[in-house]
Amino acid sequence: MYPKLILRLHVIRENTKRLIDLATKFGVEIVGVTKVVCGEPAVASAFIEAGIKKIGDSRTDNIEKMRKAGIDAHFQLIRSPMVSEIPRIAVLADSVLISELSVMSALDEELRKRDKQIEVIYMVDLGELREGCWHESCMNELLEAARFHHARLKGVGTNLGCFYGVLPTPEKLQRLVEIAEELRKKGVEIQTISGGNTATIYLMEEGSLPKKVNQFRVGEALILGTDVTGQRTVPFLNQNTVELHAEIIEVKKKPSKPAAPRKHDAFGRTVNVEDMGTRIRAILALGEQDVMVSGLKPIDEGVKVVHGSSDHIVVDVTESMRAWVPGEVIRFQLNYGALLRAFTSPYVHKMYEDMGAVE
Ligand SMILES: *Cc1c(COP(=O)(O)O)cnc(C)c1O
Repeated sequence: MYPKLILRLHVIRENTKRLIDLATKFGVEIVGVTKVVCGEPAVASAFIEAGIKKIGDSRTDNIEKMRKAGIDAHFQLIRSPMVSEIPRIAVLADSVLISELSVMSALDEELRKRDKQIEVIYMVDLGELREGCWHESCMNELLEAARFHHARLKGVGTNLGCFYGVLPTPEKLQRLVEIAEELRKKGVEIQTISGGNTATIYLMEEGSLPKKVNQFRVGEALILGTDVTGQRTVPFLNQNTVELHAEIIEVKKKPSKPAAPRKHDAFGRTVNVEDMGTRIRAILALGEQDVMVSGLKPIDEGVKVVHGSSDHIVVDVTESMRAWVPGEVIRFQLNYGALLRAFTSPYVHKMYEDMGAVE
């Protein structure tokens, strides 16, 4: 059954414990984010076994999947709900990140009918230019948000790094703390300052995280041990959490560069090709439909990814010590984008390993 994605749950659990240990020293609660694994209940369980109390996901469908699988946790929707899905989210979520008063009002109205409350973290944009009210002019909007009773303003939050790669600096997060302080002075109780994601972890490592930031929503670091915004592996976490295995369907000696005029590939890309003479090229039954090819890192020595199209990836195995043949399997580590797509592809089989046992 290939292509096959293997998730090592015991390593993810260990990463989660280590991050919780660090965060606890700063009074920071970790929301374990499952969106990169499409709300996979096995991963949510690993988080919870390691001490996570709140699970965050960007998709209502994923939260529903985890609830149906019997995952017992607080669920946080980390992307603002679509107005059209508010009736579902009123049932499924315990807290929601929101950045529009009209959305909050619609949620409040829905909750009022059900005589129910949900916590809202109102998002503030500190310069990433994705979601949130603009930090220089957000006070009125936040004060309005505090007036709802059923969609109840619990805190303020921000997200940096994911969209433009804007770095979460101490100064930026201090700004969020100031906004919370200003709200408190105006009589609005702010309990949660949801200040970050994987890209923000380095502030705890450095010890420069502003006091009073008390929640991080983290996916990548727990599941991959990496920080793509910081272009680094998180030094106190493990990276051997996930592997992708793909089967070879052809091995041939061919020139490395087409000797013909070229335009664009199937994805409209112009591909830079280096002429390295004749090379041994293996084709894998794996493609852009299954994985972000540029995010693959071969584990097997002497294997290099050349290029991919929808269903084929060519790897150069000339430098490998082995003579590869069709039917054999090449292994990869994945970056965040590659894992996101692999997990989302129905063609990739998902396996879960716990202390060596695979199921
Ligand atoms: C994806 C996301 C996160 C988690 O980000 P990681 O980089 O995976 O830790 C947190 N908050 C929001 C709003 C997100 O969209």
